[in-house]
Amino acid sequence: MPTKIIMGNNCIEANKETIKNYGLNAMIVTGKSSAKKCGALDDITKTLAANGQHYFIYDKVMSNPTVDCVYEGAELARKNKTDFVIAIGGGSPMDAAKAIALLAKQNIDKNDIFTVEYDDNALPLIHIPTTAGTGSEVTPYAVLTNDINATKTSVSSPCMFPKIAFLDGKYMLTLERTTTVNTAIDALSHAIEGMLSVRADAMSDVLAKESIRIICECIPSLLNFSLSLEQRNSLLYASTLAGIVIAQTGTVTVHVLGYSLTYFKNIDHGRANGLLLAEFLKTVEKVYPDKIAEIIRCTGYSSVDELKKILDTLLGEKEKLTKAEIEKFSADSIKLKHIKNCIFKATEQDLINIYTKSIG
Ligand code: NAP
Ligand code: ZN
Repeated sequence: MPTKIIMGNNCIEANKETIKNYGLNAMIVTGKSSAKKCGALDDITKTLAANGQHYFIYDKVMSNPTVDCVYEGAELARKNKTDFVIAIGGGSPMDAAKAIALLAKQNIDKNDIFTVEYDDNALPLIHIPTTAGTGSEVTPYAVLTNDINATKTSVSSPCMFPKIAFLDGKYMLTLERTTTVNTAIDALSHAIEGMLSVRADAMSDVLAKESIRIICECIPSLLNFSLSLEQRNSLLYASTLAGIVIAQTGTVTVHVLGYSLTYFKNIDHGRANGLLLAEFLKTVEKVYPDKIAEIIRCTGYSSVDELKKILDTLLGEKEKLTKAEIEKFSADSIKLKHIKNCIFKATEQDLINIYTKSIG
């Protein structure tokens, strides 16, 4: 994982010399308003100005970024002779920035974005997460809405690993409860799914276990939404660890099933994973009881059922799917390649059961 991680209070200002190395013209990629609200935009623009570096801001990234959005951003990057891209935000702006950095350097037809072989060439990226969940600051993935296959699909290339990730928990103090909870569950799901990937190894498991442990330690404060700055930093650290895990292992079944919930039902990414995680674990437990016991030990809970109860409390009232929706989402999901990335080889009926028991 080649990203240099710099963590700590006011770490951008304290490391402003490092940013000088990436050129004169920066493009800053953000969502609509949170980069301003949380103070990160102000910190980075002051630093760039002090360094004598120029910048322009592209603030049009929506949640679940579209292909059109990243092509628009890439055109602006080229027009403004951008040397490097700075992403501030949750997973949506961080992923969009990666795709923009890639498309600014490579001519790829819009229809081929998910299928083409990418060259090893993108503008350098600096990532500043403002949610603690996706780990996008340390992965080579940009997840985009895929209208051709009616799902979400990763564009993936080692050239999209950010050069630097600046981690400062103070940017998360403006996050309200729902996004805090959903993103923490996303990170938990990354760490757990990483342990159930065919690509897991001893090293990724060590990081995944530490991530699970830290996130679950924060759950009491998530439940009554009383996180201190120290706990915000802990969740951020844990989500970055989980990001390092999935950079190695990829995600598995939960994310595949969750993408249909996001695409068709507009359910937030982390929440979608949270709705499905426990029933997925129960299904895998029947075949791999020892592996699930190993994961549950890290949570500090006594069983998958106890974890499910906690997740249910965190997520509140659940959405409901119809039988027809469950059959369609399962038939779509079984065709996707990440399903095979799991040590548990799910059948279409397994997927139907997971959806049904979770939100049927
Ligand atoms: P997000 O879509 O980036 O942001 C969700 C909401 O939170 C937005 O309204 C955003 O506002 C707001 N927000 C962000 N930071 C804030 C802050 N500090 N204070 C107040 N509000 C804040 O959500 P996300 O869950 O972080 O990212 C989800 C995306 O990441 C999905 O597209 C998912 O597929 C992707 N993902 C990628 C990876 C990967 O490896 N690359 C892994 C998992 C998920 P603004 O719009 O104003 O910014
Ligand atoms: Zn995720």
